[in-house]
Amino acid sequence: DGTVRFENVVFAYDEDRDILHGLDFEVPADGTLAIVGPSGAGKSTLARLLFRFYDPKAGRILIDGQDIAAVTQESLRGAIGIVPQDSVLFNDTIGYNIGYGREGASPAEIQEAARGAALDEFIAKLPDGYDTQVGERGLKLSGGEKQRVAIARTLLKNPPILILDEATSALDSRTEDEIQATLARISERRTTLIIAHRLSTITHADEIIVLNDGRIAERGNHASLLAQN
Ligand code: ADP
Ligand code: ADP
Repeated sequence: DGTVRFENVVFAYDEDRDILHGLDFEVPADGTLAIVGPSGAGKSTLARLLFRFYDPKAGRILIDGQDIAAVTQESLRGAIGIVPQDSVLFNDTIGYNIGYGREGASPAEIQEAARGAALDEFIAKLPDGYDTQVGERGLKLSGGEKQRVAIARTLLKNPPILILDEATSALDSRTEDEIQATLARISERRTTLIIAHRLSTITHADEIIVLNDGRIAERGNHASLLAQN
């Protein structure tokens, strides 16, 4: 489960200016869609619509065949995990940061989520492991480590749909490649991935949609888009 379908979705923040002009696409369950395009293309807007922060002006958004207009924001939050570009961590332990929002998470579940985010090797090197304090008064994490903690935190919720909103854009390309490889593995384990990204460096996506000014400019996979351009 976790099929996402946009049916001719039109959206405007202000009555007189449409931001998305009839977007039509489907992400099959467990598939990976990368939405690429320049800043202002509408990628974050699309993610906000999936959470029902806003509703479309026309068209429908369906998850597993159900129009999300009939679904509460709360239950959508349970179905969709999101990792933003610059995840904010608490000045607390790594374990606390991964388990945050899941009060009853057991150490085994936290470990499992860390493994899913490929954090286990890093944590094993820390003398205090999961009890390591991070942030201002503790260990300063690199951008990549922070994003992995954020991914682990999101994985702990087991969301059928995972949205990465420029989650690796601020990282150096080697770290980005490593995290994208981790994401490729995650999507094999019953998770639908939607990745919003400035550049088409997401080689593992089943489909890439190039968004420009709220319209689909091109679509294909990494190889076919490279061949065209
Ligand atoms: P992207 O994520 O691709 O950078 P956005 O979805 O953030 O693009 O923005 C798409 C367009 O919508 C831009 O023109 C942006 O200025 C506009 N926009 C974004 N948020 C708002 C808002 N809250 N009110 C009005 N316009 C907005
Ligand atoms: P993101 O980087 O996630 O796309 P934005 O820069 O779009 O974030 O949004 C930052 C804040 O400014 C949000 O609350 C967004 O709704 C608002 N915003 C963005 N663009 C506009 C705009 N053109 N007019 C009004 N508000 C905007």
